[in-house]
Amino acid sequence: MLKKIKSVMIANRGEIALRVIRACKELDVKSVAIYSEADKDSLPVQLADAAVCIGPAPAQFSYQNQEAIISAALAFGVDAIHPGYGFLSEKADFAKKCEENEIVFIGPSADIISKMGDKIEARKIADSASVPTIPGSDGAVREPEKALEIAQKIGFPLLIKASAGGGGRGMRVVNSRETLEQDLNEIMSEAEVAFGDSSVYIEKYLIDIRHIEVQLLSDGINCIHLGERDCTAQRRNQKLVEEAPSPALSADQREDLCKSAVRLAEKVNYKSAGTVEYVFDNIDKKFYFIEMNTRVQVEHPVSEMITGIDIIKEQIKIADGQQLKCKQKDVVLYGHSIECRLNAEDPQNGFMPCPGTINYYRPPGGFGIRMDSHLVSGYKIPPYYDSMIGKLICWGTDRNEAIIRMTRALSEMKVEGVKTTASFHSELINSESFKSGDFNTAFVSSLLEK
Ligand code: ADP
Ligand code: ADP
Ligand code: MG
Repeated sequence: MLKKIKSVMIANRGEIALRVIRACKELDVKSVAIYSEADKDSLPVQLADAAVCIGPAPAQFSYQNQEAIISAALAFGVDAIHPGYGFLSEKADFAKKCEENEIVFIGPSADIISKMGDKIEARKIADSASVPTIPGSDGAVREPEKALEIAQKIGFPLLIKASAGGGGRGMRVVNSRETLEQDLNEIMSEAEVAFGDSSVYIEKYLIDIRHIEVQLLSDGINCIHLGERDCTAQRRNQKLVEEAPSPALSADQREDLCKSAVRLAEKVNYKSAGTVEYVFDNIDKKFYFIEMNTRVQVEHPVSEMITGIDIIKEQIKIADGQQLKCKQKDVVLYGHSIECRLNAEDPQNGFMPCPGTINYYRPPGGFGIRMDSHLVSGYKIPPYYDSMIGKLICWGTDRNEAIIRMTRALSEMKVEGVKTTASFHSELINSESFKSGDFNTAFVSSLLEK
């Protein structure tokens, strides 16, 4: 089915590695898993056609070790590398190294990753594509005087954001001018330590918002959207539950939002799968661009469920040089999908990670249920990586059915040996706020305070 790509190395772990391996199998492409010493018995390693250990457990020596991964890819003679999400997925220098070694990086070009991965630059590009952005600084802010000048224009509270931030980290709310200088200095040094880049910028901090994002697929000529995802259910700016379509948008708003995302992608000649993220202001009912993720996202399955389109397979086919078979008019949104990110964490104890051994695992099943997880009974969750153990995704003819089905599946699932967030998810999706569809990004913390 593919022309150039006959083998793919998956430079990731856990559920996303498994997701990519499954796509490779269906495309009749050889999959090569990489693993750290901590992951040698993992399910992706078992299911891939081949597997190679690339280093010790800590990610900087394994999943983030660009040299080791490129050497392994060359040794195996793979045609392409899929980076998944996190790790090297948005590292332009890694994409460049792949290009230099004539390995296809399954994602956009290094040039586009560096442009869009730099949030300051991305904001400028959004402006130039007439995609609304949140009032704030024109570019990077270094001096407290400049920050104060902006604060006087847009007012408090404001948000200082690291240009290289991600995963909900590298942001700080500033409530008044008294702390502005200190906050600015602190967040700049934090950004330097966390991301190796101290650049920060300022946005107005919006208080009554939803997070809504648009899934795109572009072959470089034809760019289509697969509708939006609503990721308003967040804790500390990190997504917990995602759904598609958004319960908050009218058909006209959806059309405007999705078209603006396509406009932005076209502006940079985007080629691959990607997501444009926005906040939707519940007060003025307008949407504002926040960032673009130039990779596949954790919550991509909800869009797959309502469109029937396999985003990973399309992403690989685009990297293979193929054109999208699907035109915008062929994309039909049907029904409703919800995803719960299941973490090995203790919701009773500040969501503290709980690595350990899964003594017993009983996955949920039945009509409309999809479990994307690398769990098996006896699996030992290593303490080195993020605590996500899987994603439970459901589909229903409408939102209400999806909530009922998700509740049923959550209660069916059993994970023994470690604490998980499953019962918390059940509570969340059955709360009055969630069920009404009318909530904002602060709703999870108010639920937790109850
Ligand atoms: P999504 O938008 O796909 O939901 P997340 O923000 O949840 O993405 O990030 C996906 C994964 O990548 C998480 O494991 C997160 O910790 C990690 N991640 C994302 N961006 C960064 C970054 N800039 N630095 C480190 N980790 C990141
Ligand atoms: P990351 O790269 O970490 O994903 P984002 O820019 O996508 O960072 O923002 C993550 C979340 O932080 C958003 O989903 C939203 O809830 C919140 N957020 C971001 N910008 C603002 C803002 N200007 N005002 C209020 N909340 C914001
Ligand atoms: Mg984001």
